[in-house]
Amino acid sequence: MKKMAIIGSGLSGLTLAHLLKKRFEITLFEKARGTGGRLATRRAAPYSFDHGAQYFTARTNPFQKFIEPLIDSGLIQPWTARYVKFEGSQIIERADWAMDEPRYVGVPSMNSIAKYLAQDLDIRANTKISSLNQIDKWQLTDEQGLSYDNFDSVISTVPAPQALELLPENFEHYQSIEEIEMTGCFSLMLGFSDDLCLEFDAAHITHSDISWIAVNSNKPGRGNLFTLMVHSSEAYAKENRNVDRQKIIDHLCHQTSHILGHDISHADLKTVHSWRYANNANRDAHPPFADHELRLSACGDWCQGGRVEGAFTSALNLAKALETRGD
Ligand SMILES: Cc1cc2nc3c(=O)[nH]c(=O)nc-3n(C[C@H](O)[C@H](O)[C@H](O)COP(=O)(O)OP(=O)(O)OC[C@H]3O[C@@H](n4cnc5c(N)ncnc54)[C@H](O)[C@@H]3O)c2cc1C
Repeated sequence: MKKMAIIGSGLSGLTLAHLLKKRFEITLFEKARGTGGRLATRRAAPYSFDHGAQYFTARTNPFQKFIEPLIDSGLIQPWTARYVKFEGSQIIERADWAMDEPRYVGVPSMNSIAKYLAQDLDIRANTKISSLNQIDKWQLTDEQGLSYDNFDSVISTVPAPQALELLPENFEHYQSIEEIEMTGCFSLMLGFSDDLCLEFDAAHITHSDISWIAVNSNKPGRGNLFTLMVHSSEAYAKENRNVDRQKIIDHLCHQTSHILGHDISHADLKTVHSWRYANNANRDAHPPFADHELRLSACGDWCQGGRVEGAFTSALNLAKALETRGD
């Protein structure tokens, strides 16, 4: 069987591994300790937060089929949130997601999905790939200088700007990937010993440095401790990327209190995560970025306009392209 290396074990990498495992001997390389990438969960005892993807929709038939076993086993459940939209601190819209298209979450945490998909795969965690070399076969080198040899083909599933650091400039689609812009985000995590009794579970916010507030603990299976997940706007994240983290926490807490009309500064836990590449700046869908001559490909949510379902679709499209060419 031919050997394939997949860089990254987010949903794109895990999906590819499942779709291609019968045809290739696959090794995944993951820079983090665990799998899942932006399908992420942060544990800060006694609290736990989904600090990456908040929920996802399943609008295409192949993705619905793919998640069916996870829904059947209860690992994915709909989040029947009470939804509101704020303009500044004014609620301008309300909806009940129990009556709308399903918004899914992993249970008991977002990264339960990745943990399930990672079973039985060969994943090298804590291994950040820093370069690729092709001398007949592909050789990958990690940041410690260790090499992994003899791969017939390689797929990168890391965010577009990070893929450009790995792919050679003669990669057929290098210039198309250079045009893809990804935006950052701060995720503020707040844990409380009391219930704030908010009138919503999920909120989008416009005209603010905050773009999203969720009662994380009101998602299914999260336990009883009240937690809030707050996302900054993309513009705020861009302007404040290098600012001291405590200042970011203080500002986002202040803005959240203003929106809620409720002082949240008494939270028992306040911590922030900075996502350098959280989402796509636009929603364009691209054909699979496969260079059949080099036996090198790139995919990820950013090939399909971002989002969880985009990550799956990009992996599916690439797997089909490799199959069509008989790679
Ligand atoms: C704050 C935030 C909120 C979001 N909200 C939503 C939402 O509500 N709904 C939705 O649908 N989507 C949301 N998303 C987007 C969603 O999380 C992503 O679209 C999806 O998880 C991307 O999956 P992926 O596999 O393409 O990429 P990733 O999950 O980024 O996977 C790439 C993997 O590659 C690894 N990696 C990177 N470089 C290297 C290297 N050099 N060597 C080895 N490994 C490497 C990373 O550690 C990571 O595990 C959100 C994302 C963020 C950050």
